[in-house]
Amino acid sequence: QEIAQLIRNRTPVADWPSDFFRVEDNIRRSGLLLGNTIPYGAALAAAISSGAHIIEPIKASGLRGRGGAGFPTGLKWEACRDAPGSEHYVVCNADEGEPGTFKDRVLLNSHADLVFEGMTICALAVGARKGFLYLRGEYRYLLEPLHATLQRRRESNLLGESILGRAGFDFDIDIHVGAGAYICGEESALIESLEGKRGVPRNRPPFPVTHGYLQQPTAIDNVETFCQAVLALYLGAERYRAIGTAKSTGSKLISVSGDCPRPGIYEYPFGVSVREVLQDCGAVNTIAVQVSGPSGACVGESEFDRKLGFEDLPTAGAFMVFDDSRDMFEVARNYVHFFAHESCGFCTPCRVGTSMLKSTMDKIANGHGTRYDLNEVENLDRVLQTTSHCGLGRTACNPVLHTLKHFRPAYENRLKSLMFSPAFDLDGSLA
Ligand code: SF4
Repeated sequence: QEIAQLIRNRTPVADWPSDFFRVEDNIRRSGLLLGNTIPYGAALAAAISSGAHIIEPIKASGLRGRGGAGFPTGLKWEACRDAPGSEHYVVCNADEGEPGTFKDRVLLNSHADLVFEGMTICALAVGARKGFLYLRGEYRYLLEPLHATLQRRRESNLLGESILGRAGFDFDIDIHVGAGAYICGEESALIESLEGKRGVPRNRPPFPVTHGYLQQPTAIDNVETFCQAVLALYLGAERYRAIGTAKSTGSKLISVSGDCPRPGIYEYPFGVSVREVLQDCGAVNTIAVQVSGPSGACVGESEFDRKLGFEDLPTAGAFMVFDDSRDMFEVARNYVHFFAHESCGFCTPCRVGTSMLKSTMDKIANGHGTRYDLNEVENLDRVLQTTSHCGLGRTACNPVLHTLKHFRPAYENRLKSLMFSPAFDLDGSLA
């Protein structure tokens, strides 16, 4: 209620009582990244003394991006290093806007040195002299401590000119604060925003590794990816590979929220099952888990043995728990409203399609829906999948389709009785 009041009063987040952010200390299972006190500067010093041969161990570690897509980090850095350009750049995507995800906030709050160290190592690998941390607008309150960390690193010669005495290795980082647009979490929209333009995803290819910030080669990675890169170099490729699974090496931070007594940040080796996470957070009577936010997967009870990892359930980090007190139709309706609100409006299929989806769900909620409307959602999904400019539009129907699969009665109980309405077959024709 207090939070709702602050939002109604439009109180800037920076002025909220600090104990509202207690979840940041709520680290439930400390693991390699969160539990390890990696001496700051150690991985960077080792990278410098290795003669900047960093990409090979990163490739050998099997590290993949933690933003959701899971692209191999070593390959990305190599492509960026080899791309021609007058300048190379490093960008950290800290625009953590996926509903249910808050693990990057914890890293920025408690492990900022690790993030900046990862960016500096990346700069050494790709030959960049300039880096940007693109900070989510709602995380503005982290700006001051982040600037203080940057300043301390400059004073320790971990940033600036001739870093740790290596002649010619000059690198520094600026922080750019976003303005609250969800779409700016998409890397090419983020780069547009960084350049001072409207945050709209670019056509790809070309990819940012060759044509990124100011059309120059740019290595852009998620906050957690940079931290994991430090960890991989610190542990060594062999030890890092031994954690997790064959195609998903290392550990993963999970933001656990929803109907459980112990929400917070958990760190697991990849390959942990949904059921194990539920046991750890004390969830009971769970009917569904939304993995990786609204655009991810709604996992029903019959699938709780599925495993988090790129082989089965890829996740950017969100793990939202729903128990049997929840109406999954309303959960899906909430997500659909979110997508309609956050569609950037650049392309017609998504701009119009997400609004149509929202109207359809509202119509069903108000008791005016028919089976024809459910069928129309599937048609709309086909249109959005094939014609949307970016992933937001392509995944906008997922919340409805996934909850329909597991909780169809929640929809059908709301439909108008066919006895009193025109009867349509599922293909939309009059019966
Ligand atoms: Fe914008 Fe949606 Fe088109 Fe993506 S799909 S560019 S979010 S309108």
